Amino acid sequence: MTGIEQPVRVRFAPSPTGRMHLASGRMALYNYLLARKTGGQFILRIEDTDQKRYVPTAEQELIDGMHWLGLQWDEGPDVGGPYGPYRQSERKAIYQEYARQLIESGHAYYCFCSPQRLEKLRQEQQQRKENPHYDGLCRTLDVQEAAERVARGEKHVIRFKTPKEGTTTVMDEIRGEITVENRLLDDYIIVKSDGLALYHLAAMVDDHLMKITHVLRGSEWLPTFPLHGLIIRAFGWEMPRFYHLSVFLKPSGKGKMSKRDAADAMKDGFSIYIKDLAELGYLPEAVVNWIALMGWSYDDQTEFFTMDDLIQKFSVDRFNPSPAAINFTKLDHFNGLHIRRLEREDLARRVKPFLVRAGYFVDDSLLLRIIPLIQERLSTLDEVVQFAGFFFEEEIHPLREDLIAKGLTAEQSADVAERCYQVLKGLPRLTVEEAEPPMRALVESLGLTAGQVFGILRVAVTGQKVSPPLFESMEIIGHDKVLKRIEKAIAILRGEETLKN
Ligand code: GLU
Repeated sequence: MTGIEQPVRVRFAPSPTGRMHLASGRMALYNYLLARKTGGQFILRIEDTDQKRYVPTAEQELIDGMHWLGLQWDEGPDVGGPYGPYRQSERKAIYQEYARQLIESGHAYYCFCSPQRLEKLRQEQQQRKENPHYDGLCRTLDVQEAAERVARGEKHVIRFKTPKEGTTTVMDEIRGEITVENRLLDDYIIVKSDGLALYHLAAMVDDHLMKITHVLRGSEWLPTFPLHGLIIRAFGWEMPRFYHLSVFLKPSGKGKMSKRDAADAMKDGFSIYIKDLAELGYLPEAVVNWIALMGWSYDDQTEFFTMDDLIQKFSVDRFNPSPAAINFTKLDHFNGLHIRRLEREDLARRVKPFLVRAGYFVDDSLLLRIIPLIQERLSTLDEVVQFAGFFFEEEIHPLREDLIAKGLTAEQSADVAERCYQVLKGLPRLTVEEAEPPMRALVESLGLTAGQVFGILRVAVTGQKVSPPLFESMEIIGHDKVLKRIEKAIAILRGEETLKN
């Protein structure tokens, strides 16, 4: 079941007013999937008519974020297309023309009310405990007279003339029909005093002109959805199908996500911003998998999806209207799964920048040898630094307390390290096959546990208590370096290290 058989035309229509977060990523993804699934087109439209909230860096971040997620659009401001321009700030004249049509057909009117009057109105309504709304003063102005006032340059907005009686019914494909009483709807402004159209008009006009068949957007648009239905009908256009996607809950699961929650999440090494997730060591494949399931499911069990799986399995029948939880533990889980699937070269290419950023000089062939040792264990790419940084160090500096094995004193631990040194020194090479059997025999003969002996050796050679497999690591580090590191560990354990330096 695809839910939709015909090729769709869908759009992702972000407003460049801030950073690209999970909700925008999800919106872009769902639109992209639907287009790819049905062999349709995915359009990027920049809704930049709100000059006050415009953030100059936002558009680039959006574009980078979409590229990073692997969501390529077919039409958009940079790639063009037959229905451009794809930036709303370049379509001002188009909206004005359509606003004029609405005025002519009696569906909209010029309003000359001053901000002061509107403010006073708002206060009075508040006192009467009414919802703020326009009282319709200019609604009944003579059309001719209003047009003359506009021609004389009088400041004005354009409002939609919402019917005052009856009801309006619109269809949300996720929730079903929504009916409102028209008297509860406001005469919304559709063109501001600076001549720029507001979303209500601009998006409806664009969706029509760009031949959009399915609108997937946030559920914050549900309250004005009836207005959008009225505008589309006023023009006599066909309604696209509308899907209002669920909101996001903050990570604690209580309440809607706020800016403050976003900042808190960032402090814990998480982020709701797509760009940060890349820097925190998440794979785009994992982020796509994770956000795909925030508001959509394939069935009740399948959780692992590649982009290809999603394109194949995506269906609009399975959107979930309930608020979506942001579960970062789940993201770590998916990231691990997707890391395991990568080709060795691919994983090397992706972890390398993290090592470089940590200040290591990275030899590619060395890195390729390390990858099999860490691929099963990484949950984020940046972990490569703490987990495998020692491979790239000339010298390491293990802590004395880490070198002391459980149940042994420092001196006894030094003796164990010494015995390890002797055995390893006597070997021609440090391959796993050649080093492991004699070392296991040593454990036996010492009457200690493997945990104690290899624990000392691990800290001595890698500098850390948790590391990739010990013998494989020693093989890569190489004979000379391993012996030098053990020597140094013995000195540290015997308290000689500081004197020597
Ligand atoms: N520019 C609107 C927003 O960012 C788009 C809503 C829509 O997809 O229609 O919320």
